[in-house]
Amino acid sequence: MNPYQSAFIGVLLILMTMLSNATAQTHRQRAESVDLLVLGGTIVTMDQQRRIIDDGGIAVSKGRIVAVGPRAEIERAYTSRLRVNATAKVITPGLINGHTHVPMVLFRGLADDLDLQEWLTKYIFPAEAKNVTEEFVRVGARLGLAEMIRGGTTTFCDMYYFEDAIADETAKAGVRGILGETIIDFPVADNKTNAEGMAYVEKFVNHWKGHELIIPAIAPHAPYTVSEEHLKAARAFSDRTGVPIVTHISETKREVDDSVKAKGASPVAYLDRIGFLNDRVIAAHMVWPQGSDLAILKRRGVGVIHNPQSNMKLAAGVAPVPKMLAENLLVGLGTDGAASNNDLNMWEEMDTVAKLHKVFTGDPKVISAQQAFELATIRGAQALHLEKEIGSLETGKRADLLVVDRDTLNQIPLYNVYSDLVYATKAADVETVIINGRVVMRNRRLLTLNERAVKNDARAYRDKIIKSLGRSTAQ
Ligand SMILES: [Zn+2]
Repeated sequence: MNPYQSAFIGVLLILMTMLSNATAQTHRQRAESVDLLVLGGTIVTMDQQRRIIDDGGIAVSKGRIVAVGPRAEIERAYTSRLRVNATAKVITPGLINGHTHVPMVLFRGLADDLDLQEWLTKYIFPAEAKNVTEEFVRVGARLGLAEMIRGGTTTFCDMYYFEDAIADETAKAGVRGILGETIIDFPVADNKTNAEGMAYVEKFVNHWKGHELIIPAIAPHAPYTVSEEHLKAARAFSDRTGVPIVTHISETKREVDDSVKAKGASPVAYLDRIGFLNDRVIAAHMVWPQGSDLAILKRRGVGVIHNPQSNMKLAAGVAPVPKMLAENLLVGLGTDGAASNNDLNMWEEMDTVAKLHKVFTGDPKVISAQQAFELATIRGAQALHLEKEIGSLETGKRADLLVVDRDTLNQIPLYNVYSDLVYATKAADVETVIINGRVVMRNRRLLTLNERAVKNDARAYRDKIIKSLGRSTAQ
């Protein structure tokens, strides 16, 4: 090589380096700045193809997912000052608790091992009559919200009293909720008449409608505690405002028998006859559908929430969930209030739903681990009529997601991600929780609630509740 040739090669090398630097520069400039990146780990998307992405990444902006894909691709295209490292962990959609009465955590363990009628009339209704105030509801809601965040629940569907205060606590905690103010035909803590109840709901809905986390709803308690006239008024209110209707239907055999005797129809057939059912209704339980009830629910687009642990504990029966799934009804999963469960733990509920139906039908193939996980995520979203917004990790959906530790003893070794999530993962394995793009728990530390204060406030209610029932001790 002569000196001219080597000089030429030298210049060429310098030019190439400059060119590649310039290319890298453009790449960096092209990377779009977003609010949050979750990088590494296995993403269980629950999208239509049920894609599972190893070493994945998620970009989040303005509360929504802007991209999901392989980590390298996401890192190339997006940049953010806020990053969550999920390497060697699992990223899943946030869990959806389709039925709760969240402040009832304060009655957790107050009365157990009873049937629904005795439990309700001898213990729960009197305890509620003597204790439920706005302050009680706030303290209970904070305890329930902390428990739900810790356990990876990002959306819950509630029915209780003073729901406006529950909405306030829920928004402050950064959790998503469909929150239904109870309408019931006897005087309750916040409203003494139906007129008062309807006025409360009107104000409540006006206050929260359009909020990015809170979906206000009307919650006529059940067809056996609310008259036909008031059920129709609730439906008319929902038609006028577009809000969901949260209710209980066919929880016990007795409810169904009484309905047949008094109205000549099952609760579902009766509600259909009076024009109550539509695709804004979310019905908890449905343990005892009769005749063509399931066909009616499907035709009307009603969402059904199955509460296996509560139904087991109160011996209400076993809802025909495999049949509902086979007929493609909108079915989700819930805990019900903690007084009949006794927690708000969706991991237990997934484990229970898979096992309960196996033992009940004698067929270990009904409700697979994947189906159980669907019930707590994408199917739960469908049952709440929110599948366009939540339930899976897809571009355009709300950024509600979990980073789950997979290094705990109960998860090792790992063969199948759905099996691991449903049969082995515990609520305490949830490490980081993101709702609407906001990190509400990071590395098991709650960021929106003061855990010590939440516990102390809740404990202070215990003695008050015991005294109110004329007892001197908890026993
Ligand atoms: Zn309930």
